[in-house]
Amino acid sequence: MSDALVDQIAAGEVVERPASVVKELVENSLDAGAEKIRVEVRDGGAALISVTDDGIGMSPTELPMALQRHATSKLSKAADLMRISSFGFRGEALPAIASVSRFRILSRVRGANVGYEIRSEAGKVLREGEAGGPVGTRIEVADLFESVPARRKFLKRPGTEWGHITDWLARLAMVRPDIHVEAQRDDRMAMIWPACSDPRDRIAAILSDDDAASLLEVDQDFTACHVHAFISTPERTRANGQALYLFVNGRPVRDRLLRHALIEAYRDLLPRGRFPIGVVFLEVPPGTVDVNVHPAKWEVRFSDPQAIHGAIRHAVRDAMSSRRWLGGMQPPTGRVTQGGQPVDEHSMAGTAGILGPSSLPGFETNSSVRSFDSASGQESGTDDWVFARGTEIPDQVADQDADAPEKVRPPVPSFGDLPLLGQLRASYLLAETDDGLIVIDQHAAHERILYEGLRKQWLETGVARQGLLIPETVALTPTSLAAIEESEEQIERLGFEIEVFGEGAVLCRAIPAELAGQEAAGLVTELAAALEEVDRDGESDASAIRWLPRLDRLFATLACHSARRFGDRLPEAEQRAIVSGLDTIPWAPTCPHGRPVAILIPHSDLELRFRRR
Ligand code: ADP
Ligand code: MG
Repeated sequence: MSDALVDQIAAGEVVERPASVVKELVENSLDAGAEKIRVEVRDGGAALISVTDDGIGMSPTELPMALQRHATSKLSKAADLMRISSFGFRGEALPAIASVSRFRILSRVRGANVGYEIRSEAGKVLREGEAGGPVGTRIEVADLFESVPARRKFLKRPGTEWGHITDWLARLAMVRPDIHVEAQRDDRMAMIWPACSDPRDRIAAILSDDDAASLLEVDQDFTACHVHAFISTPERTRANGQALYLFVNGRPVRDRLLRHALIEAYRDLLPRGRFPIGVVFLEVPPGTVDVNVHPAKWEVRFSDPQAIHGAIRHAVRDAMSSRRWLGGMQPPTGRVTQGGQPVDEHSMAGTAGILGPSSLPGFETNSSVRSFDSASGQESGTDDWVFARGTEIPDQVADQDADAPEKVRPPVPSFGDLPLLGQLRASYLLAETDDGLIVIDQHAAHERILYEGLRKQWLETGVARQGLLIPETVALTPTSLAAIEESEEQIERLGFEIEVFGEGAVLCRAIPAELAGQEAAGLVTELAAALEEVDRDGESDASAIRWLPRLDRLFATLACHSARRFGDRLPEAEQRAIVSGLDTIPWAPTCPHGRPVAILIPHSDLELRFRRR
C-alpha cells in the first residue's frame, strides 16, 4: 500500500466531515499554546476551512515532519499514552486531512524573521519554501474530498455542515475560556468568543446569557473522579440532548455512559422528551480512562464506569436538592456555588428564606419563569415557585445559622395545612395560600403520590401488600406466565402475591396496599408485561439499579391506573388526603407522565384581571 493510500484510509476515520477538520486543527492550535484562534469556513467547509493561531509555530525542519504519518511531537513513549494532556497524540490528523484536500500550511516560530510554507494537493507536495506570515500557524484546507468523489457526495448542505462545525467549536471553546476564538462564515463574522476567566462567561457567549445565568454550578469530589458542572434547573429544558456538553479531562466527548448518567439524574424532574442543559467537566485519574478508543477521540472508556455513572448522578441530584428543587432529599455533601460565588449551606438556607416563605414546592406558575441573576447572587423573577419548606432545612444548618438574621423566618406551611376550598368540575382541587389560588390536577397529583409511594417502598424494604378477600384468577399469555414464574423474588418485593394456576393463568392473592381497591387483573397484567421486559442477561445481578428503569415505568403505569380520574367526585376526606399527600413527594413540577401537578394563580393576576391594579 502506498503512503498516500494509507493516509486516505486514515482520513476516512479521522476526517468524517468538515467539522472533524475544524476540530483537529483547532485542537492542534490549542496544543500549540495559542491565545487566539481564528476559523474561516466557506461553503460549509467544502470550499475552504482555515484555522489561524498565534501559537508556538513550527520551524522549517519541523513543518515537513508534521505532515508525515505518526509524526507527533506530543508523545514519545507508549507509557505517555495513559497520561495524555494534549488533545493530539496520534500524529494522524494533518497527513490525513492533507491527503483529501488542497492543503497549505504556513508557520513561523517566534524569533524567526520569516515563515515557511508547504502546499500540497491530495497529499502530493507542490511547493515548499519560505513565505511571509505572522508568528503562529495558518492552515488552509480547500476543496475537501475533491479527490475522493464518493466522500464529497456525502457532504450535507452548507448550513448543516456549519452547524456541526459550530458545535465542535463550542465544545472546544468551553474547555478553554481563556482562549479567544472567532469564526467567520463565508463573508460574515459569525461569532466572537472573547477570552475570559469564568467558564460561565464562555457558556453565556455560546448559549445565551439567560441560559448561563440560570445554570447551577456543581463542584464535587468523588473517589473515582471530580465533577465540575453547570447544569440547568428543572424548568429550563431543551427538546433534544444537543445542549449536553461533556468533557473528560478537558477533552470533549460524546460518551453514552456520561450522557445517560446526566439524563438519569433528571429522571422525573423533567417532562417526557425534554432534556437538561449541562456542561460537565469530569476529571479522572489519567490511568482510569482510555481516550484512545476512537480515532476522533471522542469516545472514552472508563475502568470503573459504574462509579463514574454514580458520581454524576449524585452530583446533579445534590445540586438539585441543595437548591430545594426536591423535597426530603439528603442535604448536599459537596460545594455548590451560585452565580460563580461560593456559598455554603448557611447562605443557601438564607436564600431559601428570601424566596418567600409562603411559596410551596411543586408548582408551575402561569407567568414568568424565574431566573438567577449571577451578578447580585440573588434570585430574581416575580414568581418564586421554587422553594424550600422550612422543615427540610437540615437541623445542623439551622443550628449553625443561629446568628444569621435569615434564621428568623416564619414557618412555611405544608400542603396539608392549606385551607381547602373544594373541588372544581370533579377534576381539580382548589386550595388557598398567601400567594394566591392553588389549582391541583387531582389525577396528576394522586398519580404522583402513588408513584412515589411505590418507588420509595420498593427501594427500602419492599412494597407493602394487602391480601385480597377473594383471590382473583388472571389469564396470561405463556410469555407473561414465564416471566411471572421467573421473578418470584421481585414480585414479592413489588407487593404482589401470585401463584401459577393451571396452564394459562395465575391466582393473585395480594396486591400493593397502596393500590388497594383496584382490580387485580389489570395490575397483574401490567406487572407481567414489565417483568417480561427486564433484561435477564445479568440475572445474578439483582441490583436495584438494573431494575429501576423498568420498574419506574411499571410504577408509573400502576399509579396511572389506580389514581383518581378526572370527573371522579371525591369526598372531602379524600380531597384532603390528596392535597396532604403532596407533602410526601419529592418536589418535581410534573406527574410521572410529564404534566404539571399543580399551578398557582397569584393574587396579583386576579387583581390585574379585575382591574384592581
Ligand atoms: P497530533 O496532534 O496527534 O500530534 P497532528 O497530525 O494533528 O498530530 O499534528 C502533527 C504535529 O504537527 C503535531 O504533533 C505538532 O507538532 C505539529 N502541529 C500541528 N498543528 C500545529 C499548530 N497549529 N501549531 C504548532 N504545531 C502544530
Ligand atoms: Mg492533532
